[in-house]
Amino acid sequence: MAAGVLTRWWRRVMTRLGLAPILCDTCRYDHPSACRNRERPNATECGEYVKR
Ligand code: SF4
Repeated sequence: MAAGVLTRWWRRVMTRLGLAPILCDTCRYDHPSACRNRERPNATECGEYVKR
């Protein structure tokens, strides 16, 4: 199993358990003018996440 698939699977498990970290808290785009995703500021899964 590829590492990326395993990481996504693990994140989904953590999200279902309510234990996944909020990605927006550490994302470079956590600002209304930079991110219009509806999940912000509480996204636990995001394909556009970039670490600050
Ligand atoms: S790009 Fe994703 S992780 Fe970053 S602020 Fe927007 S919703 Fe949150």
